[in-house]
Amino acid sequence: MTDLSRRGLIAAAAGGALAGPARAEAPSAERGGRGADILGPRDAARAAEAPNTLDPPATDHGTMPNLKWSFSDSHMRLEPGGWARQTTVRELPVSTAMAGVNMRLKANAVREMHWHKEAEWAYMIKGRARITAIDAEGRTFADDVGEGDLWYFPGGIPHSIQGLQGPEDGCEFLLVFDDGGFSEDSTFLLTDWLAHTPRSVLAKNFGIPEAALAHIPETELYIFPGPTPGPLAGDVPGGNGQVPRTFSHRMLAQAPVATRGGRVRITDSSVFPASATIAAALVEVEPGGMRELHWHPNGDEWQYYLAGQGRMTVFGSESKARTFDYRAGDVGYVPYAMGHYIENTGPETLTFLELFRSPRYADLSLTQWMALTPHALVQAHTRIDRAVIDGLPAAKHPVVPG
Ligand code: MN
Ligand code: MN
Repeated sequence: MTDLSRRGLIAAAAGGALAGPARAEAPSAERGGRGADILGPRDAARAAEAPNTLDPPATDHGTMPNLKWSFSDSHMRLEPGGWARQTTVRELPVSTAMAGVNMRLKANAVREMHWHKEAEWAYMIKGRARITAIDAEGRTFADDVGEGDLWYFPGGIPHSIQGLQGPEDGCEFLLVFDDGGFSEDSTFLLTDWLAHTPRSVLAKNFGIPEAALAHIPETELYIFPGPTPGPLAGDVPGGNGQVPRTFSHRMLAQAPVATRGGRVRITDSSVFPASATIAAALVEVEPGGMRELHWHPNGDEWQYYLAGQGRMTVFGSESKARTFDYRAGDVGYVPYAMGHYIENTGPETLTFLELFRSPRYADLSLTQWMALTPHALVQAHTRIDRAVIDGLPAAKHPVVPG
């Protein structure tokens, strides 16, 4: 049975299970005389989302850690005007290098003024927000950001985020932190600090009477409805000038590297100098196409799937290989140096972000390596016809067509 017909059966079975009584074509874990049907309890909807887990490619082998987490399985922190959920080392234990937060702020809702130990990289998924910060020299930063825009706040730099009125009634964004142990619940909040400092100390610190502090919140606000902000130009107090390297970047304004199978935009410190610890790629793969076999020489890869569906097999040496299915809203992870591909398995364009804890983006292409190594040597390893090896492209093709 082909991959596609297997998927069809599994999808049909899941549809049946969701619609009512079980159908005859229940998900099967049987292939080529190996495996058997499943007699006991099963979650048909879950199985339908992970056909390569139920019935892995015959090339999968050995023990690999879990490399997938869905934000749908993350705890939702619901607050007045928004929500937040996170995927950290606690949800996905392999993800020690980076952690992610998915957050929604309705119009005027504020993620309150705060800082944290980790650097924060962000991608705006939908809508618009106003972001503010200052640096250690008291220089200011403020910008209104929209879909496809990035921001980066270095560790310890205080900042705020506020949803803006627009077609989306605020915004939703992805935050990525350069430490997998990050927790969104462990940031340093303005209101939390004020609530845990003696009033007399606050009064002395600001040079104001204690009576002026009568209404400070007794507990943290975190996400709360705020005032409608004015025009950006008049909203930020001045005095010490602006930060020398802007904390925001328009990723979609970058011309993509276009290939026959899709497009790639790479944003690292060479084009977004403030982003000193996070490098990113936004990858689009057309139906049937594939992010080519490759690996990275500079650390783990944290992925966020924005649209479509795909599968990734990760090769971990010692004959280890495991295939995972991903769809929009999922997180994927590739440990340092492990080989991988990402294939579009759906009818839509597959769009995902690759993130690295590194100032620069770098990858190594298997095809390019073979094309640029003496061809007789490559032939001795692969036993592929010399003419075929001679035809491999020396230029990198990050996305190949179907
Ligand atoms: Mn933050
Ligand atoms: Mn990769």
